[in-house]
Amino acid sequence: MDLTGKRFLIDPGHGGDFPEKTYKNRMEKEITLKLSKILRDMLKDEGAARVFLTRSHDKDFDGKDADDDINKRVDYINKFPGVDVLLSIHVNTETGRAGMFYPVNGKASKTLARSLQRKYATYIAHAGVWEGDFAIN
Ligand SMILES: [Zn+2]
Repeated sequence: MDLTGKRFLIDPGHGGDFPEKTYKNRMEKEITLKLSKILRDMLKDEGAARVFLTRSHDKDFDGKDADDDINKRVDYINKFPGVDVLLSIHVNTETGRAGMFYPVNGKASKTLARSLQRKYATYIAHAGVWEGDFAIN
């Protein structure tokens, strides 16, 4: 996949008051942020024009609860200009879905997600990719 000139938006799942899954004191929000920063650096090294993160530190989107926070996150993503590829990073639980979610009809996002999943699978047996309905347009 030629990344030259492409603009990426990486969404580290959860954050702030909404850590989501916790396993042995490790919180999903921390792992997704670390993974997203590694991914950002990898994409830049491969020639991506710009790589943005929906959050670069431990923060939420001022939602009144987890669902409201996700809706506010989706609003933020929908207002983000000119993105070619969107990936939302989640690790969920030990046996749950770990990997990348990409938007419905996001062909380039799906291609990248599948490519990354092959790397992910080296470390996580149940790694995968999923099409997600994020109400993102
Ligand atoms: Zn998650």
